[in-house]
Amino acid sequence: MFYQKILDQIQDEIQPLLGQCPPADYIPALAEADNTAFGMSVYTVEGEHYQVGAADTPFSIQSISKVYNLTLAMRFIGDDFLKRVGVEPSGTAFNSLSQLEYEHGIPRNPFINAGALVLTDTIISNSCNPYQVLLDFVRTTSGNETVEYDERVFQSEYDHGHRNAALVSYLRSFGNIKNTSDAVLKTYFYQCALKMSCNDLARSFSYLANAGRLPSSRSPIITSRQTRRINSLMMTCGTYDEAGEFAFHVGLPCKSGVGGGVLAVVPQKMVICAWSPGLNSKGNSMVATRALQLFTEKTGLSVF
Ligand code: GLU
Repeated sequence: MFYQKILDQIQDEIQPLLGQCPPADYIPALAEADNTAFGMSVYTVEGEHYQVGAADTPFSIQSISKVYNLTLAMRFIGDDFLKRVGVEPSGTAFNSLSQLEYEHGIPRNPFINAGALVLTDTIISNSCNPYQVLLDFVRTTSGNETVEYDERVFQSEYDHGHRNAALVSYLRSFGNIKNTSDAVLKTYFYQCALKMSCNDLARSFSYLANAGRLPSSRSPIITSRQTRRINSLMMTCGTYDEAGEFAFHVGLPCKSGVGGGVLAVVPQKMVICAWSPGLNSKGNSMVATRALQLFTEKTGLSVF
């Protein structure tokens, strides 16, 4: 009950912050999200579950899907992904084109769009039906057979994804995209348009706190070495150009998305997901960030 009390306190404390920041509006379908909504969920490696607020409300996971993308790419090609994507923080916008020019088409890391698009390309090369591979993976790991993607968000991204289309063309000019641009973009937008709740996400990613195994199953999703590597990338590159602030104030590997979700891992202990659609100027949920900071302050949990 310790963690439940903490979640209840956090919900009280963040109330004055709700509604202060607008949701993402560069994808029209995301602009409709309710910026007064808040949810938070905790899944421990012992299988305990705690939740507060709208923890069961599905939202657009957006860039949190880049963690699935990296997991699947590692499962398909192991360390070979490192030949096509780096592991350094970018220090530029998540959808920046300029960095690719002077780094010869090798994206800085898997969590900026260019890096995720390259890893999407590797998944397409290694599977007959990349949509189904992803959907099966998220349904199995979350234990929720009803997880789906949002057709409107997908279409909205497809219709307005000119910058992502430019990234794919640019990457192709360096030989770092092998499949058709349309296939890469559609698969990438499909990942971003998955709709999942805090409960779904915290449960699904619990392998990141448990050396690569779902607490409920004996078979590994990825190796413990791969798990450490994903967590390290989440710490250094998972929260856009605000990873330093997250390390300082939250102290856990995190991955955020412009749908307002933020995932956090306490290695060997638990996975936490907080969600509220209003975004700060760096593209991270203002309230979810604060909620995670309160959680680590109250529990003393940190990787440092
Ligand atoms: N679908 C988004 C895009 O590529 C991802 C945004 C995000 O959450 O970072 O623009």
